[in-house]
Amino acid sequence: MQEDKGKVPLIKDWLQGFMADHRASRPGDGWPEVESVSARRLWSDWFNHFRDAKVTELEARSASKQLGEAFAGEKLWCDEHLETLLKLIGSARAQAMASPPDDRAEAERLSRDCPHCSGGGYVTVYDHKYDGHRAMLRDAMAGGQVRKLNFAMVVSAHCTCAMGRRMRSKVGDEDRKRIPDLADVLAGRGRWQVEDPTGDVPFDAGPAQGQGGAVPAAGGRIDNGDRS
Ligand SMILES: [Zn+2]
Repeated sequence: MQEDKGKVPLIKDWLQGFMADHRASRPGDGWPEVESVSARRLWSDWFNHFRDAKVTELEARSASKQLGEAFAGEKLWCDEHLETLLKLIGSARAQAMASPPDDRAEAERLSRDCPHCSGGGYVTVYDHKYDGHRAMLRDAMAGGQVRKLNFAMVVSAHCTCAMGRRMRSKVGDEDRKRIPDLADVLAGRGRWQVEDPTGDVPFDAGPAQGQGGAVPAAGGRIDNGDRS
């Protein structure tokens, strides 16, 4: 493929903002004063661990939300946050890999609190170069020639939760290749990202509710331009 992969946001570029938001959500947990030596040490510690675990900002933010829910009304000393967040991220990743329940109601139950899709199973993802146009002509190799192909810039990905996994397990190989996997997106693989690069309020590119395993309308199809 000729397309470039885009850049995965670097941890050092989002960690500061993430930590500020995370601290603000848990003001009573004994955080060191901002800009203090202890605060800088905490930052390095989180940075090293997040880097080793290849944590993405979205994973960190989901874990932060889950931590808030799990420890609502309880104190969790600031030193214990990193380990808790890493555990939550680990279990979210494990859940993504685990085989999904076949029963739709069970998948729905397990995914109700999904921080990515709220249980719908689909997550809107954006090409790194999305600029507000839902499709873009790009050079790509097709049949041994460079041709202009119409690439979708906004599509629906299968979520990492039980519902998303279940949907992904129900589609055929062709659709599995075509529809991005949120697990890949979160890991920074491929050309998709969860944040809208234009900064606009996200819109739902997914299918209407209740269509079962139907293919999303904007499902990342590479249009071969075959209109003759
Ligand atoms: Zn989900």
